[in-house]
Amino acid sequence: MTSVMTGDHVGEHITVAGVVQGVGFRPFVYRLAREHGLVGHVGNDSTRVFIEVSGPTDQIEVFARRLVDDAPPLAIVEQVTREATAVTVTDEFVIVESRTIPGARTLVAPDTAVCDDCVAELWDPANRRHRHPFITCTNCGPRFTIITALPYDRPNTTMSAFGMCRQCSSEYLDPSDRRYHAQPISCHDCGPVLSYVGEHVVEGGAAIDLARHALRNDQNVAVKGLGGFHLACDATSDDAIARLRSRKHRPDKPFAVMVRDLVQAEELALISSGDAALLESPARPVVLLPARSSTTLSPLVAPGNPMVGIMLAYTPVQHLLLEGSMPPLVMTSANVGGTPIIYRDADVEKLHTLSDGLLTHDRPIHVPCDDSVVRLVGDRLLPIRRARGYAPLPVAMPGARRPVLAVGGELKNTCCIVSGGHAWVSQHIGDMENFETLQAFESTVERFEAMYSVAPEVIAADAHPGYLSSRWARTSGRGPVFEVQHHHAHVAAVMAEHGLDPHEPVIGLAFDGTGYGTDGTIWGGEALIANVDGYERVAHLSYVPLPGGDAAIRNPCRVALAHLWSAGVDWQRGLAPVDALDEIERDLLHRQLTRDVACVPTSSMGRLFDAVASLIGLRQHITYEAQAAIELEIAATTGTPLDPYRFGMCGVELDPGPVVTAIVEDVRRGCSVADMALTFHLALTALVVAVARRIRETRPLATVALTGGVFQNSLLTMACVDGLEAAGFHVLTHHLVPPNDGGLALGQAYIATHRTER
Ligand code: ZN
Ligand code: ZN
Ligand code: FE
Repeated sequence: MTSVMTGDHVGEHITVAGVVQGVGFRPFVYRLAREHGLVGHVGNDSTRVFIEVSGPTDQIEVFARRLVDDAPPLAIVEQVTREATAVTVTDEFVIVESRTIPGARTLVAPDTAVCDDCVAELWDPANRRHRHPFITCTNCGPRFTIITALPYDRPNTTMSAFGMCRQCSSEYLDPSDRRYHAQPISCHDCGPVLSYVGEHVVEGGAAIDLARHALRNDQNVAVKGLGGFHLACDATSDDAIARLRSRKHRPDKPFAVMVRDLVQAEELALISSGDAALLESPARPVVLLPARSSTTLSPLVAPGNPMVGIMLAYTPVQHLLLEGSMPPLVMTSANVGGTPIIYRDADVEKLHTLSDGLLTHDRPIHVPCDDSVVRLVGDRLLPIRRARGYAPLPVAMPGARRPVLAVGGELKNTCCIVSGGHAWVSQHIGDMENFETLQAFESTVERFEAMYSVAPEVIAADAHPGYLSSRWARTSGRGPVFEVQHHHAHVAAVMAEHGLDPHEPVIGLAFDGTGYGTDGTIWGGEALIANVDGYERVAHLSYVPLPGGDAAIRNPCRVALAHLWSAGVDWQRGLAPVDALDEIERDLLHRQLTRDVACVPTSSMGRLFDAVASLIGLRQHITYEAQAAIELEIAATTGTPLDPYRFGMCGVELDPGPVVTAIVEDVRRGCSVADMALTFHLALTALVVAVARRIRETRPLATVALTGGVFQNSLLTMACVDGLEAAGFHVLTHHLVPPNDGGLALGQAYIATHRTER
């Protein structure tokens, strides 16, 4: 570092890139500079914070180090540049006007939970924002969901209609204030107004009282949140939850529960220190936790499931709702039957059939964003749904210059835009099975393109010809479509997250329910050797015919019968899947299998989990995706191992037949469901380790990537990590995007980016 010397004083031009706007970075720089007796200025342009400082060399050194080390809580510093410059002729340090560089991009901060300082003020009767439902500051509150354009300034947010009062303006303009340049600030005098729509419409503080009253009386209340409406009800009331379930047409799938704080969370679940840190993190995700056995929670929150998804209140409105002795609340996205979350004020009439009352306000939501869901697997963070609090933070993709759009898969769709060394993965959009979700997908693509000023030159899509996302890609007119095989994309997503050398091959184990294979079959139990240049399918589960696609997926008993048929085991009465169908259905199915009518061969690991769950008598029909596999994992956690089941390994084929046969024998012997479930998990773990070892015999590969929706299974993931590490492998799992199809877009983008660079 050379600096232009003037006595012992030097001048420096410093830039800071990353998430540095809308997070209080300039006032932080201002205070830091003054603390170190430096003069000069700080400002924003559309891409970074720029700083001119002059002062003693040693002070500038400390200043530059603290820019990174002591950055504000919501800031993410990606890059700092420093160069010598002339000493500034001034005797003060000031914040200068923002400069806009057309077409330039900055990083948009995610929405974050209301901070402790603001919560303290919320409860402080002496504070002028006492009980203000929209209290926020530079360190907290909505960002991504209220930004309508860049740069991030109040006129470019959904707060533009609210003129700041005199007091709020003076805080906004005071660099020493926590609300300096905090765009969404307001107060009782100038902010949005809360209202409760029940029999009558009531505004202000009384709206909270009425909503609380309704919730305490078993009503379902729609509550406007950050990224959309929630449906809320008393989580201790069977009646309230039963009604919500019938309104949402959601009989079994677990609901998330919101509590006021960690103390209330600990009454409901067993919480490790890692879990507590996640619950209290600014992203405030739903964390999947082991439920305590005796709690006040209704069993209808998560029927038959020993886990419970808990999140802490993250908006001031939620804090007000949960104040005092309020019971924990079910808080689930307001939507019906697989359509996207309702978030527009214009759509509130859709909420009438879903709720008895509506707690809303007049600050529009610009971007829909569901709650995120995560779990800890050992000490590894495993995202299950990535949305609020995480989106739209990018994944670093160094060297990526050509703008690429990846459109993701079909279920749990996300999209991803790559440009300038970043991959921006969208928030969870939903299952692309209806027009509403396709519309939500399109507007997300357009928003990301606009936000980051990107005109994609290549569109990456799943190779499945029938995926709505792939069809959209072919007709979008944005550029040539680059097709990526489903499981190759899964493996590439892990590589991208971990910043691996894109050309260095890894062993990728991609286990999921459904992915289009290059031979026209459905893949899903895949061992690949892969890098961005391609993949080799070195092993896979043996094909089993899947009779009648959707019917098989909804009815694990049908998959179990197909597995029995493939393994050559007779369909004898007394076996759960045999008894689950009547004779006519069984005959029809048998004819389908023997004549190979409307059967698609599949190597799906998800379907094998379904078959096993059915065979051991656990689950014959499902009402939500992966229900049988989830219940199989739950059952296994209380089991003790039986004599091991062993997969056949012959060439590239991994044959589940011997496992199926052994399970049938154990069923006939009367073994317990839990023991068989655990023994199956152990068999699969042994298979994973054996496959990796066999690959290593001929190829010098030491890194294994575990991916695909099956690896949401914590028991399996931990056992595979332990087994593989004991065998000397370096094991990579997902920590930024989900292992399920929510991570596909990142993998597609990674492959397309490296394959189509000019
Ligand atoms: Zn705050
Ligand atoms: Zn005000
Ligand atoms: Fe998949």
